[in-house]
Amino acid sequence: MFPADAPSRGVSARDILAACLHLLFPTPCHICRRPLDSQRVSGLCGGCWGSLERMPAEGCARCGWPFPDPAGARGAEVPLCQRCRQARDHFRVARAVLRYRDDGVARAAILLVKHGRRLSLLRHLARLLAESAPQYLSLQDWDGLVPVPLHWVRRWRRGFNQAEMLARAVGRRHGLPVLGRALSRVRATPLQSGDFEARRRNVRDAFAVQREVAGRRLLLVDDVFTTGATANACAAALLQAGAAEVGVLTLARVE
Ligand SMILES: [Zn+2]
Ligand SMILES: [Zn+2]
Repeated sequence: MFPADAPSRGVSARDILAACLHLLFPTPCHICRRPLDSQRVSGLCGGCWGSLERMPAEGCARCGWPFPDPAGARGAEVPLCQRCRQARDHFRVARAVLRYRDDGVARAAILLVKHGRRLSLLRHLARLLAESAPQYLSLQDWDGLVPVPLHWVRRWRRGFNQAEMLARAVGRRHGLPVLGRALSRVRATPLQSGDFEARRRNVRDAFAVQREVAGRRLLLVDDVFTTGATANACAAALLQAGAAEVGVLTLARVE
């Protein structure tokens, strides 16, 4: 007999066939296509999940990028990477938890979330971000979290904003309010590509502040930090509206 909470309908021939097929052809890992093992995490085998590459805890004072020569960097008063010495950033600090390489698992996992709508995988990644973030920056330095918004058309098509889910996980774990509607994307921007200058032009004036942010220290949250153009456009809008300080926390950082 079935337990009391089992669905009332019987087991159909189709269910039995599906179970047999599953035994014969176990679901492969979404990334490496090997059969899922007992260590699997939401469609990823234990090997793939375990090889998500962490960012080192020490690096450029502003963007966290690791130095090829940490000993040399330690001598500098404020050790900044080449990017940060040239960029005019509006955010004070940016940190990421995972390293995003072209052939890496972090990239594959984030693309699965974005294009494959793997929400359960996103929840696992969000928990990883929330758990690991304190190794990279002090969350007590911030008054609230601001997810980088999607344009409403893209959000509607995708059905969720991954930045918002990431921010909510961090907020829950660390007791920080999530200012979900502090920013809106007032201009749909083409998908980002190109160098810093092209990306900066692409997102310029794309964001507007919708909530009272004056005097607050705000931590922007997004899935990927690429050149920093999006983070800078958001930070500029928040600072212009009176925010005291803006930082950036992302799940992953592109090389
Ligand atoms: Zn795998
Ligand atoms: Zn840097």
